[in-house]
Amino acid sequence: MRLFILSMIFLFTLTASAQKQQNNNSNAKPKLVIGIVIDQMRWDNVNRYSAFFKSKNGFLKLANEGASCNYTLIPYVHTVTAPGHAAIFTGSVPAIHGIVGNSWFNNLTGKTEYCVEDKSVSSIGSNNQTSGKMSPKNLWTSTIGDELKLSNNFQSKVFGISLKDRGSIIPAGHAANAAYWYDGESGNMISSTYYQESLPQWATNFNNLHKVDEYYKQGWNLSLPKEVYEKNCDDDVNAYETGFYDEKVKINFPFDLTKLIGKDYKRLFSIPQGNNLITEFAKETIQNEHLGADSITDLLTLSFSTPDYIGHNFGPYSWESLDGYIKLDEVLADFFAYLDKQIGKDNYTLFLTADHAIAPIPGFAIKNKLPADYYVSADLAKDLNSLLTTNNLKKELISSVYESTIYFNHKLMDSLQITDAQLTNLISKFLERKPNVLQVVNNRNAALAPLPQLIREMLLNGYTPQRSGDLTVLLKSGVIDGYPTGASHGVFYNYDSHIPLYFYGKGIKKGNVNRMSYMTDIAPTISTLLGIQMPSGSIGNPILEVLK
Ligand SMILES: [Zn+2]
Repeated sequence: MRLFILSMIFLFTLTASAQKQQNNNSNAKPKLVIGIVIDQMRWDNVNRYSAFFKSKNGFLKLANEGASCNYTLIPYVHTVTAPGHAAIFTGSVPAIHGIVGNSWFNNLTGKTEYCVEDKSVSSIGSNNQTSGKMSPKNLWTSTIGDELKLSNNFQSKVFGISLKDRGSIIPAGHAANAAYWYDGESGNMISSTYYQESLPQWATNFNNLHKVDEYYKQGWNLSLPKEVYEKNCDDDVNAYETGFYDEKVKINFPFDLTKLIGKDYKRLFSIPQGNNLITEFAKETIQNEHLGADSITDLLTLSFSTPDYIGHNFGPYSWESLDGYIKLDEVLADFFAYLDKQIGKDNYTLFLTADHAIAPIPGFAIKNKLPADYYVSADLAKDLNSLLTTNNLKKELISSVYESTIYFNHKLMDSLQITDAQLTNLISKFLERKPNVLQVVNNRNAALAPLPQLIREMLLNGYTPQRSGDLTVLLKSGVIDGYPTGASHGVFYNYDSHIPLYFYGKGIKKGNVNRMSYMTDIAPTISTLLGIQMPSGSIGNPILEVLK
């Protein structure tokens, strides 16, 4: 009897411990986190385009089966690629993470710098040396991937993939195993010696397949009958479109790309198949680097660059935009099905967002009676030159004009005894008479600017003394600092700053979040899900409604 009771107790303990084990498993962390950035996506794209998607397994899988944060805003200016990727993965803003633009004028060195340039490293995977001299050294704070690695003595694997170098290097972070990006000269996926000495054999094998030639052979054909585009988009060909890449010829569908085979590899950036190359390379990375293969969480960051080129060239209301998103949706559906099979349905967590959105092309807006115009930085620089000359001042008082930002030459100002306030007043009074200018803000005093708090904060969050200009020229709604044709982005208006945000998979509660959330909330949300430290500069709040 005693023995029986003892064995009963033993059995009970065993069952209880097995139960506990099982509970632990259901609470276990995802084996793989996938952070997806669509380079240039408006929040309303899924609403506008979902009726034309071929299945419910791409964007709609995230919208219907995941959590959708419908009022996610970018909390800083400039709303461009590099600061966007940095903010998503650091949870921080340019004032803290340092990435104030895709490029900037460095006030300390007096030189223009590219966000991920690093002359101390070299290319691997291509003979083109300039395309690989890249690393994350200009990013000042840690990323989700860095913190994930710190949480377990660097056992997690972290990889970044994008067509754009900055779209892969910044999200992957400082301690990444590797970041891979596309070299438009060789048509290869490449990397730099910052990460490793040479390209792994599997990546070389992938490059040897020359998939880009295959994509060029396919060309760009419409996914649906042309009547769908006629009814739901602007005209196919317009004088205000930039056209296909840098070609001045306006082209109608279908786009024949066969003449590019074997040579012009940079065109891949602006055709939908650029997205196919990214997911095909991602699958190879997952398989060969064994991502999500054990209980230690890995991170894969993917940035789809093609929508940005299509948006700039043809605008967000074009046939090309609609067709590009239909095709991107198919690529995502295929990739999600692959993840279910390879990693397992309940073993991964995914988020999808955008680095920025986009304004309508001014020509399209004007045609439809909406306020719009161009005020290009090059013209702004010319206007400032003539202002200084007419006031008998040296034009060198302005060091640089970049993306509606004016950099003062403080050394020269000191020697001529011109104060910051004097130069600010002169320029503000002059520019604020121009019909396209809303107001000019001195960035150091942005907290006092006569603007809504939200906009003041965006200006403050985007400013750092070493890399930012002294004045920001705020343009009126619809006025873009772009090209003589095409669309652009970079300012505080909602057409640039309202982005999509979806979470899906392990640990995610399905539903809608209809309060305001911010791009900087993504990193702390993922940190909370994984139980790891927030990135060093993170200023966001975890979006607790999306977590189970
Ligand atoms: Zn862009």
